[in-house]
Amino acid sequence: MRRAFISPAKYVQGENELLNLGYFIKTFGESALLIAHADDVQRVKPKLEHTMKTYGVTLVESGFNGECSRQEVQRLKQLAAEHNCSCTIGLGGGKAIDTAKCVAEGEALIIVPTIAATDAPTSHSAVLYTPEGEFDDYAYFKQSPTVVMIDTTVIANAPTRFLVAGMGDALSTYFEARATSNSYSRVNAGLPCGEQEGVGAAIGTRAALALAKLCYETLLEDGAKAKAACDANLVTPAFENIVETNILLSGLGFESGGLAAAHAIHNGLTALEGTHHYYHGEKVAFTTLVQLVLENASTAEMNEVLQFCVSVGLPVCLPDIGVTSVTDEELRNVAAKACIAEESIHSMPFPVNEDMVVAAIRVADQIGQQFKQKGE
Ligand SMILES: [Zn+2]
Repeated sequence: MRRAFISPAKYVQGENELLNLGYFIKTFGESALLIAHADDVQRVKPKLEHTMKTYGVTLVESGFNGECSRQEVQRLKQLAAEHNCSCTIGLGGGKAIDTAKCVAEGEALIIVPTIAATDAPTSHSAVLYTPEGEFDDYAYFKQSPTVVMIDTTVIANAPTRFLVAGMGDALSTYFEARATSNSYSRVNAGLPCGEQEGVGAAIGTRAALALAKLCYETLLEDGAKAKAACDANLVTPAFENIVETNILLSGLGFESGGLAAAHAIHNGLTALEGTHHYYHGEKVAFTTLVQLVLENASTAEMNEVLQFCVSVGLPVCLPDIGVTSVTDEELRNVAAKACIAEESIHSMPFPVNEDMVVAAIRVADQIGQQFKQKGE
């Protein structure tokens, strides 16, 4: 059976790491196209200026418009060509990072996340939107980013809610990789460039499953401690472990270990208006519980996950993600979205239908609410 694993060529994480950005630009040439939101550039301006001076490189600012659309990607590609840029930098949150991936197309790319809210930075894929902000398409590139650079000082000074959301995204990683492994389902790491999906079909590796397991274990051990550090805007060893967990372990774990029910049900939940004010990882924390109900995980495991979520303030029930009441018809709509043929829910080791998903959401919500009441 064919198996595949993908990762960035280099991952580097440290306090004030941004001061080394110029060093990495220099390995490609003299100048880099900087794709970043103006606010994010402002947050790190002194470090950018310092590293440009130290290494004698130029950053071409691009006035990124905030949306990862085909039009914006085209404009930025032209700008890079006009200025003879030798590499692309995506600095900031998800949109800037995805746009940089699309502009670089798998070549000479440095990703600098300024928050640790999702596990997207290390992956070789991006999500395209229309200029109006509606979903357009997924894009897969021939390689992952060349360098993923994390400045922990910057992450520690971002709002704690981002770090906690990142823990929610990382929480699902092990359970989805375990399900994918048990069912011998394919993983994203096997996809070459997206076009010919059949050519790239591959299952995950033992390496990816081990990383996913370490991802979960580190959350349990260091999650609450890291949250406390972030509340104080301080970098501690536990905080550093969680930054690595949210970005590297979860990133490699999902891409090479596979997604399953949790992310598919998350995608279904976007049909409910109330959830729109919550971050991806916050919703994924709850849908991880839904997956555990769906697969009838042990009571001990379920309680461990609930305990973890409550300890860091992640959602465990529908009201926690903005859904105070929901009709059966609305839930059926969510389940239908989660169960479309392309969704990762079919990586579960048993056939899943819409009725099962509706029941699992209702029961996970009940269990989560009861768990919170017991704790009060
Ligand atoms: Zn995710």
